Amino acid sequence: MSRQTNVPRVRFAPSPTGDLHVGNARTALFNWLFARHAGGRFALRIEDTDRDRNSDVFEQNILADLKWLNLDWDEGPDKGGPCGPYRQSERIEIYGSQLDRLRKKGLIYPCFCTEEELEAERASLISRRMTPRYLGKCRDLDEKTRGRLEAEGRKPAFRFRVGRGVVEFNDLIRGPMKFDCETIGDFIIVRSTGVPAYNFAVVVDDHLMEITHVIRGEDHLSNTALQMMLYGAFEYYRPTFAHHALILGKDHKKLAKRHGAVAVREFRAQGFLPEALINYLSLLGGSFADAREVRPVDEIIRGFSMDRVGKSGAIFDEGKLRWLNSIYIRNDQPEDFLARALPFLREAGLDCERADPAWLRAVLEAIRPNLATLADIGAYLDIFVEEKFRILPEAASILAGEESARVLAALFEVLGSVDVKSEELYQTVIDEVSKRTGLTGKKLLMPIRAAFTGRRKGPELEKIFAIVGRETLMKRLKKAVEK
Ligand code: GLU
Repeated sequence: MSRQTNVPRVRFAPSPTGDLHVGNARTALFNWLFARHAGGRFALRIEDTDRDRNSDVFEQNILADLKWLNLDWDEGPDKGGPCGPYRQSERIEIYGSQLDRLRKKGLIYPCFCTEEELEAERASLISRRMTPRYLGKCRDLDEKTRGRLEAEGRKPAFRFRVGRGVVEFNDLIRGPMKFDCETIGDFIIVRSTGVPAYNFAVVVDDHLMEITHVIRGEDHLSNTALQMMLYGAFEYYRPTFAHHALILGKDHKKLAKRHGAVAVREFRAQGFLPEALINYLSLLGGSFADAREVRPVDEIIRGFSMDRVGKSGAIFDEGKLRWLNSIYIRNDQPEDFLARALPFLREAGLDCERADPAWLRAVLEAIRPNLATLADIGAYLDIFVEEKFRILPEAASILAGEESARVLAALFEVLGSVDVKSEELYQTVIDEVSKRTGLTGKKLLMPIRAAFTGRRKGPELEKIFAIVGRETLMKRLKKAVEK
């Protein structure tokens, strides 16, 4: 519990060095669920100390992606809060004063080793099959040598003196953890450029921001061992740690670009709904007691429990995500669905501003049951827009059959002579063509579908008849007959 407010406090701490990866989004989700389940606080902290790799664009994108996912934060760089600033680049003075505390305790020392020297030490240890670590060359330099090196213009980094023994902690997901200090060299806490290193800044921040639970990926486990030492050195109260397993690709390796889409941004552009992605990420790794898969977010919050968050890696299954997405698309409120569909309609080349709103709604409702993602809209839109309509080879081969010719001929006569309201058009035409050809079922419907949609599968024919109308259908029929 937080020392002052008695509520759990968690944080998500992305580094703005790239787009938000689904794995990181899942970490954010776990923190958010933990806070919302327990009535705690969720803080967003931007870890932007890596000057060479940071960018403001990435920071803005990460914030936008979290907002798109509806993972709202209570404190953060854009909205402030009691423990700000929430951007590490704005906390440099704080790190300086905390470094002084360790200096006074004699727990740090300046290190003058160059990159080349450190690299040579690493290579030598690896060639002797030993764990690469800093062996402490600068640990016991006397004041005179330090003074001389500084006079030569060498800027030192600062290292933490690692003690003997073991570091132990109890991980909320993984149970008791133990690390042998022998394998850990004195580590850098402030670089020679004056920039604080991750392990140091994160401990200072988590402490000053009164974080009670650090929930993050298991790739940070070895960092936690170092962070534990710093908690001890500062005599800070330790938060509880929970390291969740990572998302894996089908080959059981960490999910990466070569597996396909990995950035939240890519999933968004491909037409996934944020609710579906949240639902999917919360299921990954078996976070619930029962097997039900479609869960609205309120229910996910209510049912969330850290002990059910998977210990073993969860395989990312895009097929399952698509399936969930199609369900969310089908269940979306018509107004919401229209708003979400607009960018995809525009991308497909539709002038939405000039389109008749009633027509647009009817088209969207007709194709909705066929969509796995919003990007699929483009393909089905062709059926309703004359300039885009074309007969795909899969449909052309159906139209080439002998029975198809009979169906098309009858269809031509019937369509040309009926005079009914557009809602009744389909049933009237189908009944009459069936009577004249003696065909039913697939034999009757497949050529009709091929001629009027240009494909083998798609939205219900009845809806297509009603939206496209008799005249246009006649034109299409002529095209199909010519084929
Ligand atoms: N900035 C770190 C990262 O993006 C945060 C790790 C942590 O949660 O401590 O991996």
